[in-house]
Amino acid sequence: MAARILNGAPIRDAIYAELQAELKALRDAGVRPGLAAVLIGENPASHIYVKNKIAACEQLGLYSERISPPPTVTTEELLRQVETLNRREDIDGILVQLPLPPQVDAKKILEAVDPAKDVDGFHPQSLGRLVSNRAGMVACTPAGCMEILRRSGIEVAGANAVVVGRSDIVGKPMALLLMHANATVTICHSKTKNLPDVVRRADIVVAAIGRAGMLTQDFIQPGATVIDVGMNQVTDAAQAESLFARHPDRLAKFREKGSALVGDVHPDVAEVAGALTPVPGGVGLLTIAMLMSNTVKAARLRRGAQAEKTPATAGAAVR
Ligand code: NDP
Repeated sequence: MAARILNGAPIRDAIYAELQAELKALRDAGVRPGLAAVLIGENPASHIYVKNKIAACEQLGLYSERISPPPTVTTEELLRQVETLNRREDIDGILVQLPLPPQVDAKKILEAVDPAKDVDGFHPQSLGRLVSNRAGMVACTPAGCMEILRRSGIEVAGANAVVVGRSDIVGKPMALLLMHANATVTICHSKTKNLPDVVRRADIVVAAIGRAGMLTQDFIQPGATVIDVGMNQVTDAAQAESLFARHPDRLAKFREKGSALVGDVHPDVAEVAGALTPVPGGVGLLTIAMLMSNTVKAARLRRGAQAEKTPATAGAAVR
C-alpha cells in the first residue's frame, strides 16, 4: 500500500496561522519581531536558504535584514558585527548562515550570538537546555520534524525511533527531542554496523545523512513512519535514472532541468512506509516555519513582557 504523504505545506500554514495571533498581540504592544541573517560568500544553496527565510519574514510581517560581510572577513570582524546585532533592540533573532568561509572560526561566532537571540538553536547554552529538557531555542529542522509527527497524529511515545545522522544541528537534537517525547531512540552514523538491520527495527525513521536516496526499501519496516531531512542536489543522469526508474514524472522533470532535489530516502520507499515526508515539500518547509516561530518567541521573551503569549499558541509550535 502506498505511504501516506506527510506534506509540509498544510502543517506550515497551520503554524503560520497560530503565529499570526501571537504577532497581533506583539503588534498591539508596539513590537515588530526582527531577524538578521548573516550571509557570507557565494554558496548558491546558502543564498536560496536566506532568500526563502527573508521571504517568510515578509509574508508574516516580520522585520528582516540581510548582512553580507565580504568573503575575506576575519573572525574578529565578524565577532564585532555579531556583537552589534546582539546590542540592537530591534533585532530579536540572529542567524548565521553556515558554512562560513574557512578562515572564520565558526564555533566562536556561534558562541558569540546572544542566547536570547539564538533562533537557530546552535548556541551551546541552547543545546544544554535541550539536553536537560528545559525550555529554550530548539534547532529549527529537528523542531520541524517533531511538529510534523505531532500534527500528523503519529504516536511517538513508546515507539522505536532510529535517527540516521549525528550532526550537532540535526541528528543529535532530533534524537534528544524524540527521547524527551518518550520514544526509545537509536542513533546511527557512518560507523554503525548492519545499518539496514538497525533501521528496519524502527517504527519512526529520521534520515539526516546527506546521501541521495541512501535508505532504500530494504531499510524500512513495512508501515513505518519515515521523516526525510536530506536535501541533495542530483545532477548525474545515471543516478537520476536509477532513483526515478519507477517515477517517470520526476525523471522527465530531471531531464528538463538537469537537476533534481532528492532526500536521503529512496523514492520507492513510498511503497513500503506507512507515512513519508516528501522532498521537496516536506521537512524543509518546516525548518523555515520553526525559524519564524523561534523569532517570534525570542521577541516575546525579550520585549514582550508588554505582550503576553496568547493561549491559542501556548505549547504549540514553540517550546
Ligand atoms: P552532516 O554531514 O553534518 O551529518 C551527516 C551524518 O550522516 C553524520 O553523522 C554521518 O556520520 C552520517 N552518515 C554519513 N554517511 C553515512 C552512511 N553511509 N551511513 C550512516 N550514516 C552516515 O549533515 P547534516 O546533519 O547537516 O545534514 C544532513 C542532511 O540533511 C543533508 O542532506 C542536509 O542537506 C540536510 N538538511 C536539511 C535541512 C532541511 O531544512 N530540510 C536542514 C539541515 C540539513 P558520521 O558522524 O559518522 O560522519
